[in-house]
Amino acid sequence: MARRHVLMTGPMMRTVTDQLDAAFDVHKLWEADDREAFLGDIGDRIEAIAVAPHTTVDSALMERLPGLKIVSVFGVGYDKVDAAWAGQHGIYVSNTPDVLTEEVADTTLGLLLMTVRQLSESERYLRKGLWEKEGPFPLTRASLRDRRVGIIGLGRIGKAIARRLDAFRVPIVYHGRNEQPDVPYGYYPRLVDMARDVDILVAVVPGGDDTAHLIDAEVLDALGPDGIFINVGRGSIVDEDALITALKDRRIMSAGLDVFAHEPKVPVELTEMEHVVLLPHVGSASVHTRARMGQLCVDNIVTYFETGKPVTPVAETPLRG
Ligand code: NDP
Repeated sequence: MARRHVLMTGPMMRTVTDQLDAAFDVHKLWEADDREAFLGDIGDRIEAIAVAPHTTVDSALMERLPGLKIVSVFGVGYDKVDAAWAGQHGIYVSNTPDVLTEEVADTTLGLLLMTVRQLSESERYLRKGLWEKEGPFPLTRASLRDRRVGIIGLGRIGKAIARRLDAFRVPIVYHGRNEQPDVPYGYYPRLVDMARDVDILVAVVPGGDDTAHLIDAEVLDALGPDGIFINVGRGSIVDEDALITALKDRRIMSAGLDVFAHEPKVPVELTEMEHVVLLPHVGSASVHTRARMGQLCVDNIVTYFETGKPVTPVAETPLRG
């Protein structure tokens, strides 16, 4: 039987490429000198796309692939794939939920503690020899004690973060588009109201048009000068300029960020600030978890061709078969 053709949008983990190479004819989009000529040459044969991290699959690309049936995203966030267009055209989009949930929640708690207790700053202090020269690191103004956390996006990862904060005995409330009757936390239909009532905001909503600049100057001002903002969702969900201004003017106390508007570019205003913690989008980035994500990314393609349906289709996808 003729082998099926898969388009890969960027470099992926060895375990993914090895498995795809063994089962399919794989075409590497990012290696094409002339993308138009490349797509003209192989576009008619492509039935699946394996979407590498930080790469885009828009309608213009999918339109060039008339035989396309499945777009398999490596990652749970699929804001760089036009899933609505794919759904309308009978193309499945799949992502890699659940297998990364606990890892990202672990990272979020690490980032939260680093930010609240100024752990990176205090480590820099020690490394510069200042402990010996100038005495103990100053007491931190913030603490998790007596503080309330508002989670923006109480989904799979949001709930795993909440479970950890429960164990830390920190009160939790949440904001999303819908109230969830089965959770023990208070719900705020308006984000600005929640920001006013909490000390720490943890954002873990998807990117895309619906959430663009959800956290703006108004929300940051409602959080206030003792407030701390943590973002592990997507850079696009916060107005980054407004965040920088609020941090500069001390209209919020500090921020812990794993995601940025134009990754891997991080504004120099942020890198020069002492009172922020900045991570290079490492939420799920362990060998253990990335291997599980890679496997699910492959399984979605293979299972689609075996059964007509991927393992973990996204909500916009047509439920065929
Ligand atoms: P889920 O779909 O389980 O949860 C998403 C949550 O966001 C839901 O509770 C949803 O609630 C809420 N939400 C969606 N749209 C809006 C909106 N417009 N306004 C307010 N709330 C909204 O996803 P996961 O928890 O699995 O993942 C969440 C996101 O985390 C991913 O999409 C990705 O962007 C990010 N992520 C980041 C990682 C990192 O390395 N930093 C790693 C993995 C994921 P409701 O429907 O009620 O609005």
